[in-house]
Amino acid sequence: MPDVHSPEQRKKNMSAISSKDTKPEIFIRNELHKRGYRYRKNAKDLPGKPDIVLPKYKAVIFVNGCFWHKHECHLFRLPSTRTEWWAKKLEATRLRDKSNIEVLNLDGWKVLVIWECAIKGKYKRGTADLFDSITYWISEGQDNLEITHTLY
Ligand SMILES: [Zn+2]
Repeated sequence: MPDVHSPEQRKKNMSAISSKDTKPEIFIRNELHKRGYRYRKNAKDLPGKPDIVLPKYKAVIFVNGCFWHKHECHLFRLPSTRTEWWAKKLEATRLRDKSNIEVLNLDGWKVLVIWECAIKGKYKRGTADLFDSITYWISEGQDNLEITHTLY
């Protein structure tokens, strides 16, 4: 959970928005690579610039931070300062994510969203369990899937 109280911290947070290759992303990529999957990352030519693209499976994966993508979970809380501004901004991101997924589906891609809370925090899933779900979805999944801390 970002602390947005000091200007210094806010600057740091703002730079985090555009940062690629966050820790959860790197974790997921490394584990997929170990399991033999080959992918493109941060595909700029696809809506929402998916973090991981598996062309062979017509599958894209977003690894979403729960704060930045407004996930309704224990990791999300609106900042106590500039609350209105954050509420608007994060809701806009949520809606944009939704429409990006719709466009990807129309173009024939299936979409997996892995939420930060599935791999971080006290409710996180075990790694083996998590990657069983991911790899099963990659090869067999017909529809979109979201993996969160509540999906066991
Ligand atoms: Zn979450």
